[in-house]
Amino acid sequence: MFDFITDTEEYKAELAELIRQFDAYCPSESFSVELLSGGGEMRNVEITVSGEKFCYSNTAEIPRDKLGFRKITLRFLKNSLYAALNAVFKRDLPWGALTGVRPSRLAYELFNGGVALEELPEALSGTYGISESKSALLADILSNQRGYFTDDGNYVNFYVHIPLCPTRCKYCSFVSVAIDKQKKFILPYVDALKKEIISSVGLIKESNKKVLSVYIGGGTPTVLDAELLNEVLSAIPYKNIEYTCEAGRPETITRDKLKVLARHGVNRISVNPQTLFDETLKNIGRDHTAADFFKAYSLAREFDFNLNVDLIAGLPDETPQMFSSTLDRIMELRPENITVHTLSKKRGSVFAEEDTLREYRYTEQMMDYAHTALKNSGYVPYYLYRQKQMVGNLENAGYALKGKQSINNITTMEESVSVIACGAGAISKAVIKQSDNSHIERYANIKDIKQYLEQFDERENKKQLFLKNSLQ
Ligand code: SF4
Repeated sequence: MFDFITDTEEYKAELAELIRQFDAYCPSESFSVELLSGGGEMRNVEITVSGEKFCYSNTAEIPRDKLGFRKITLRFLKNSLYAALNAVFKRDLPWGALTGVRPSRLAYELFNGGVALEELPEALSGTYGISESKSALLADILSNQRGYFTDDGNYVNFYVHIPLCPTRCKYCSFVSVAIDKQKKFILPYVDALKKEIISSVGLIKESNKKVLSVYIGGGTPTVLDAELLNEVLSAIPYKNIEYTCEAGRPETITRDKLKVLARHGVNRISVNPQTLFDETLKNIGRDHTAADFFKAYSLAREFDFNLNVDLIAGLPDETPQMFSSTLDRIMELRPENITVHTLSKKRGSVFAEEDTLREYRYTEQMMDYAHTALKNSGYVPYYLYRQKQMVGNLENAGYALKGKQSINNITTMEESVSVIACGAGAISKAVIKQSDNSHIERYANIKDIKQYLEQFDERENKKQLFLKNSLQ
């Protein structure tokens, strides 16, 4: 627990996020932080942490434009706050003062500004105090994105959202509900979704954009039966490009559904155990066992899909040994992609309310093991992102066997290509490139399936307008 007082209201949320990272390491202690800048150019800042006072000055050149001023000032405030907290708590955070969701953005900024790949680790640690190992990881990621990354404005990604799952995992904060609660809406939902897909496909065609990749996500799209899955996929005309379908929950996978996916050109699927310990699976609200995962995995292997397997580090009651044993067994299967998530105390998940987070002290150890073991086993890290409230200030990282990097994962995480998204809760994103103000504009569909259906026509008109304007 901590109290935070500051006169820099505009930066308060970002600064509080950094303090929260330290709070995770000393949950039983309560402490106070006061950060005073005096306003204006904010050249100097005075920080008091539980009675200990620190003063810092900003010697960097401060840009005159609003965005530039904000960026440099925030960097100064965060670095100063990190230095003060570090001095009091004697704790280095793996990502230093960096709290943002996409650390690779900072790496690209440096790289595009002329810093060579081999010089990136040093430049990264110098900017926000990022640890040596995370700086090296970021430099590796940039290098492994070469040839897969694009920001070509002629392309868009196409996303379809099926916000249904067999049961709701305790850690979930995605837009997804247990299918039992939505039974009566499934058929109308599939009909409406097809309509939305067809009109979005039409607008993409009119705009002469090319589709770079397709991603059917959720939720668990394979919770739909083979017939309904076939209906949804029949509305999507794109072939011979990267085409992913999440089949995350192993208990939803059947031969018939896999046949449907293969027939429509899907070439990449996710089969996710998260852990191979049944007790943990039960604890986190998943309705399958490790044996179910192995069965689904070998069924999927009979087809010509690239397979991704998701794991989570930091699950309740799991030790580093349990995590490494899961990872070792997964690596033996040689899936083309392995994604390692850090459990996050996300708003909306049941865990956010529980005290079990205190058990995640091992998470850092698990992620270190994953980075080393995967690298030694021939996997390369190729994308990375962070979420708010991740214990230990860690990350989610995607690994691939060389040559198997997913274009969708890279361009979505780097936000380099516009996304046309369909379905309840799906968010379309337009990458607007302007010489002085490149930015992302978003259009979010209604999350609740019932409301999505009720307001379909009105919302569909608004979305079409958004797409027409942003796809120009
Ligand atoms: S499978 Fe994924 S989307 Fe579905 S409830 Fe679990 S975490 Fe949420």
